[in-house]
Amino acid sequence: MARRTKIYEGKAKILYEGPEPGTIVQYFKDDATAFNAEKKDVIDGKGVLNNRLSEFFMTGLNNIGVPTHFLRRLNMREQLCRSCEIIPLEVIVRNYAAGSLSKRLGIEEGTPLPRPIVEYCYKDDKLGDPLVTEEHIAAFGWASQQDMDDIVSLALRVNDFMSGVMMAVGIRLVDFKIEIGRVYEGDFQRLVVADEISPDSCRLWDIKTGQKLDKDVFRRDLGSLTDAYAEVARRLGIMPESGNGTGPVAVN
Ligand code: UDP
Repeated sequence: MARRTKIYEGKAKILYEGPEPGTIVQYFKDDATAFNAEKKDVIDGKGVLNNRLSEFFMTGLNNIGVPTHFLRRLNMREQLCRSCEIIPLEVIVRNYAAGSLSKRLGIEEGTPLPRPIVEYCYKDDKLGDPLVTEEHIAAFGWASQQDMDDIVSLALRVNDFMSGVMMAVGIRLVDFKIEIGRVYEGDFQRLVVADEISPDSCRLWDIKTGQKLDKDVFRRDLGSLTDAYAEVARRLGIMPESGNGTGPVAVN
């Protein structure tokens, strides 16, 4: 059997060349990292849950007309996506103060924000993904002003969708991070939501108890990360098939 070509290996995923031109396969690993990979662990089953959860959110976004790179899930740990050129920015949307915003501005975690706030960080692990402004982005050519307008509008649509989906199952969407890719269609480029949307990249708090159901469980040693992610999947009615997906997998 021919070996697949690995395009890139990141902290939580591996990207392979896809079966057709213009496609890639995203493989979700069980590795968890935090604080710029200073804290690391392997968490059995996390990749399976994130593959399934990201499929659920991306499919929902595609269905309401928010373009994403997601095409279809292939198996427990892999999904087929359109290949795109990732803009080197982490786009963060916040509804409540938490994490780095709370630290930076001295606002207590959980304080509602007067309106959703969109922030950009420059994707560079060596620099610790520093916060940047639109001025930096335009000056260094990472994205044009038109791209940034489109990115903000995509990010706010993702926020509305995700907030509603979560609210319906008793979960508060505190904040999240997305990445945006460029897809070329002839002479035109289109921006799409890329990477993943999962509890690794969101803050999710139970509305009644405030219990954290996201990667802060790992960052802050608050218990079992897979229990937290499985609870999100259970509430959304999308528990993955049994097993942890470490056995042999077939692509197509
Ligand atoms: N986030 C992420 N990847 C990163 C940085 C942040 O997915 O490299 C997510 C994080 O899970 C949270 C949101 O973006 O949902 C805002 O994170 P914040 O800036 O507060 O950073 P942190 O406190 O996680 O360092």
